Amino acid sequence: MFEFKKFRKKSPWILHYNAGSCNGCDIEILACLSPKYDLERFGVINTGNPKQSDIFLVTGPVTYRSRSRLLELYNQMPNPKVVVAVGSCACTGGVFRGMYNVEDGVDRYISVDVYIPGCASGPELIMDGVVKALEILEKKEREENERSEDDK
Ligand code: SF4
Repeated sequence: MFEFKKFRKKSPWILHYNAGSCNGCDIEILACLSPKYDLERFGVINTGNPKQSDIFLVTGPVTYRSRSRLLELYNQMPNPKVVVAVGSCACTGGVFRGMYNVEDGVDRYISVDVYIPGCASGPELIMDGVVKALEILEKKEREENERSEDDK
């Protein structure tokens, strides 16, 4: 288990979910994974499996139809985990706020650790947010380890 945790810290995996975005922020996330920005140089990899993910990148406002999937994915991710709201819509509902089929930002349902503003958020901002998320993940893991040491 110790070895697993060690490698998890060095190679955190990302789960990307579009909760109702216009796809603008999602395209910027994909740009981060392209050779130009090469987000993977930080050891992260984009995966489709919540059970192996550490960082949850969410775009868009939460629509009524996506709400249950958002919660389901979040609950399937192991602890500790970090949630990043990408774009104004994920942060507050953005331009869709107040529409009949849309709820507010992501933090109405799950706790958000990093907010990345912008419509759309640019690759530099997203990279910066992911680096912050890595620091937060490391801090959470340290705290969890200390807690488990105390319990012994
Ligand atoms: S913040 Fe802008 S680009 Fe991103 S999902 Fe909302 S409307 Fe689209």
